[in-house]
Amino acid sequence: MQQSFADINNQLVAINEQGLYRSRRVIESPQGVEVVVDGQKLINFCSNDYLGLANHPEVIEAYKKASDQYGVGSGSAHLICGHSQVHHQLEQELAEFTGRDRVLLFSTGYMANLGAISALLGRGDTVFEDRLNHASLLDGGLLSGAQFKRYRHVDIEHLQARLKSSQSKNKLVVSDGVFSMDGDLAPVKALAKVTKEQGAWLMIDDAHGLGVIGDQGRGLVAQQQLEQNDVPILVGTLGKAFGTFGAFVAGSEDLIELLIQKARSYIYTTALPPAIAAATRASLKLVIAEQWRRDHLTDLVQQFQQGVSQLGLQLMPSLTAIQPILIGESERASEMSNNLLAQGFLVSAIRPPTVPNGSARLRITFSAEHTPEHVQRLLLALDKSWLKT
Ligand code: PMP
Repeated sequence: MQQSFADINNQLVAINEQGLYRSRRVIESPQGVEVVVDGQKLINFCSNDYLGLANHPEVIEAYKKASDQYGVGSGSAHLICGHSQVHHQLEQELAEFTGRDRVLLFSTGYMANLGAISALLGRGDTVFEDRLNHASLLDGGLLSGAQFKRYRHVDIEHLQARLKSSQSKNKLVVSDGVFSMDGDLAPVKALAKVTKEQGAWLMIDDAHGLGVIGDQGRGLVAQQQLEQNDVPILVGTLGKAFGTFGAFVAGSEDLIELLIQKARSYIYTTALPPAIAAATRASLKLVIAEQWRRDHLTDLVQQFQQGVSQLGLQLMPSLTAIQPILIGESERASEMSNNLLAQGFLVSAIRPPTVPNGSARLRITFSAEHTPEHVQRLLLALDKSWLKT
């Protein structure tokens, strides 16, 4: 017993020595572009609340009303007695939003990815994953028991070669739509073409594209005019641009029925609180109606990119609300993040194993609630922290 505790301690020491120690910050205010930590007001550039809906009055009002109507807890899993009318309505509205036959709500995006991949594949099948896919997609592939093959980041030729050399009957290609730590886009059109040619299925997780990209925020897949038969498995999360919590898989009637029968992270977990589903219905209306939020985000990103290029910092190639600055060494990224904190800015340092070794970065994210002045102040602070650390 004592032995294993000593081992835990050694592991913690080793993690610390590598500059990879993770710790949490306690937020004392609502989520937003200005948050309070340790009594200090900080400008927040690390949230995924891209459209600024997490604390929107209409979303809060819908949540409160639904809590009065439905209570707080959902009581059980969807398949027992936890699937309420408001979950059902949200599924129908998300199906219409994504242009898919049907949608299934999951409690989190992590669970949606684990559940969907492991329901679709098993031993004898093969899953092909972009090297930089989100951890939940990689973990889903590993959990499924299928043969697990990675291809080089956004490299269609490498994927094609791997698909061609596979003897498996069932092949599933899985990719982020917008890569969560890089902000760049998957070549979804080319992925749809290759998977069709090779008789494989395609699953796109558009967690960071839905709400932010495309007409009415319908995401990368819709923006590229890809339909259900091009991208048969589409995943979205609700804790980012939608500002609430939860996730969904969208696709054909049969796909959704199969997930209801087989996705263990759907079957064996408590349903989302119904009030969260009601809040998401309100945020979905705002996502569709308020194009100004996306337009403003685009303007902020352009302002930031122009400013950063003048500072000589290395931006990663991204046009989305995720704008990482490549630093390299984990210690340096942490030092810059701490220095920014001391200047009143919350910017997270993303280090291995979340990103490949030697590619630690500052992951700067924008929200429609930021102002050009926030961006200007961030640029000045970045300049100072780059010179000082
Ligand atoms: N997919 C991607 C691409 C993500 O970035 C994330 C979360 N950061 C998830 C899935 C997981 O979603 P959730 O936070 O709802 O579990």
